[in-house]
Amino acid sequence: MTDHKHESMSFREGVDRMVDRATLAAGLDPGTAKVIKACDAVLQIKFPVRLRAGIEVFTGWWAVHSAHRLPAKGGLRFSLQVSQDETEALSALMSYKCAIADIPFGGAKGGLIIDPSKYHLDELAEITRRFARELARRDLLNPATNVPAPDMGTSSREMAWIADTYKTLFPEDVNQDACVTGKPVSRGGIPGRTDAVGKGVQFALQEFFRHPDELEKAGLSDGLSGQRVVIQGLGNVGYHTAKYLAEEEKVKVIAIIERDGVVFNKDGLNVHDVRQHFAETGGLKGFQKAEYSPQGSEALEMECDILIPAALESQIHAGNAMNIQTSLIVEGANGPVTYEADEILRRRGVVMLPDIYVNVGGVTVSYFEWARNLSHMRFGRLQRRYEELRGTSYLSALENMTGREVPRTLRTEIVRGASELDLVRSGLDDTMRAAFLDIREAMKRNENIHDYRTAAYVIAIQKLAQSYYDMGLVEIPEE
Ligand code: NAD
Repeated sequence: MTDHKHESMSFREGVDRMVDRATLAAGLDPGTAKVIKACDAVLQIKFPVRLRAGIEVFTGWWAVHSAHRLPAKGGLRFSLQVSQDETEALSALMSYKCAIADIPFGGAKGGLIIDPSKYHLDELAEITRRFARELARRDLLNPATNVPAPDMGTSSREMAWIADTYKTLFPEDVNQDACVTGKPVSRGGIPGRTDAVGKGVQFALQEFFRHPDELEKAGLSDGLSGQRVVIQGLGNVGYHTAKYLAEEEKVKVIAIIERDGVVFNKDGLNVHDVRQHFAETGGLKGFQKAEYSPQGSEALEMECDILIPAALESQIHAGNAMNIQTSLIVEGANGPVTYEADEILRRRGVVMLPDIYVNVGGVTVSYFEWARNLSHMRFGRLQRRYEELRGTSYLSALENMTGREVPRTLRTEIVRGASELDLVRSGLDDTMRAAFLDIREAMKRNENIHDYRTAAYVIAIQKLAQSYYDMGLVEIPEE
C-alpha cells in the first residue's frame, strides 16, 4: 500500500518540491519552473464493461505532463491505488527521465483503477481493449502523439491487446505497431524490453562502482560482488534486477520483500527459486529454503549495503526514513522515497541513486522499439553478416601475417555479427553510463548540488527549459 499517513504532501506535490529544490540549485527562473511542473493535460475516463457479475464501470486516466516532444510516452498502470494525483506525478517523472536519458519523447502516464487478479483472462482482455478504444478515439493512443508501455500490473500481454485494438481501428496506419511499446517480440516488440529496467539497474550499478570517489561517499567497498542487497518487489523490475545482480554480479540478495512478507537468508537467496515459488503461490509465504516473516515493510529497515525498492511509491517515508540502515538506495520503482524521507536520508548521509535515472531502462528500450517499428526492420538486419565477413577478413589477415592460428572460441567471438539483443543492450548500457556521467558532471560544475537526485533534476529541468525557450514559451535569464 502507498503510505501517505506520515506525509504532509501528495506524491505529485513531492515531485514538484524536488523540482523546486533543483530550480533553486540551478538558479533557474521560478516562472520557468512553474511551466515545467505543470501537467499539460489530464483526462479522466469512465467506461462500462459487461462482465460475469454484470456491468462494471471502470475509472482511468491518461496524463500528458509535457508534449514539447512527441510522442508523449508513459507506462500504463493497473492497480487499485491508481489516482489522478499519482498519474500526474508519474507523468512528470517520465518527462524528467526522457530528458536525462536523452530520449526525444514527452512525458505521459496512464492508469486504471483495477485489481487485475480479480478477473478472468477474457474479462481482462475486454477491459484493456475497451480502455484502449476510449484512449484511441480521443487520439490518446497514437504512434505520433501518445504511446503507452507496460508498468505496474501490466505486461507485454496487455500491450499486445492494445496494439491489436489500435490495428482494428486504424488498419490504414502503416505505423500501427508503434502505437504502444513493450509488445511481445512476435507482435512487433523488441528483444530486451521485458528485462530492460532490471538490466538498466545493473548497468547503473556497474557504472557507479567504476568510480572509487562515488563509492567512498557511500562508504561502500570496491566491487559489486558480495555486496548485501535487499530488494522490495518481485515483479518485472524487482525480479530482473535481483536475477542479474545475483547471477551476473554475484551480489548477495539477502532479502526479498513482497506484499505478503519477506524471505531472507544472510548468505544470499536463490532468486530463481524464490520467483518460482512466488509464481506458483502468488506470495512468499511457505518458501522453504529461507526464513520468512509477514512483516514485509519492516524489512526495508534491515541492515544491508544496497537497498533497492522496486515495487511502488512512498515506501520510504517520514515514518521509517530514520530507521533505514543501508549505505546506498537504488530506486528501481518510481517515487519509492518521498520528498520528506529524502530530506531525512540526505541529512543522515545515505546516498540515493534516484528513480529518474535508475529506471530509465524501460523507456530507453521502448524508444528503441518505437524506432524499430517506424523503420519496419529489425536492428542489425543489414549489417550483421557484413560485420561477420569483415571479422573473418581481419582474422585471416592476422593469421597470414603472424603465421599463427586464432583459437576457435576466440574466433567465434570476434567474427560474430551483433544480434538485435546485443545492439539493444549496448544502447541501454551506453544510455545508463552517459546519464550517470552527466549527473556526476552536474555535481562537479555546481557547488549548490550535493546529491544525485538534485543533480538529475537539474539536468532534466535545464533541458526542458531550453526546449521551452527554443519554442518561445519561457525566457532563460542571462548567465
Ligand atoms: P509489477 O506489477 O510487475 O511488479 C510490482 C511488484 O510489487 C508485484 O510483484 C507486487 O506484488 C509487488 N508489490 C506491490 N505492493 C507491494 C508492497 N506493498 N510491498 C512489497 N511488494 C509489493 O510492476 P513493475 O513493472 O515491476 O513496476 C515496479 C515499479 O517500477 C513501479 O514503481 C513502476 O512504475 C516502476 N517502473 C516500471 C517500468 C516497467 O517497464 N515495467 C519502468 C520504469 C519504472
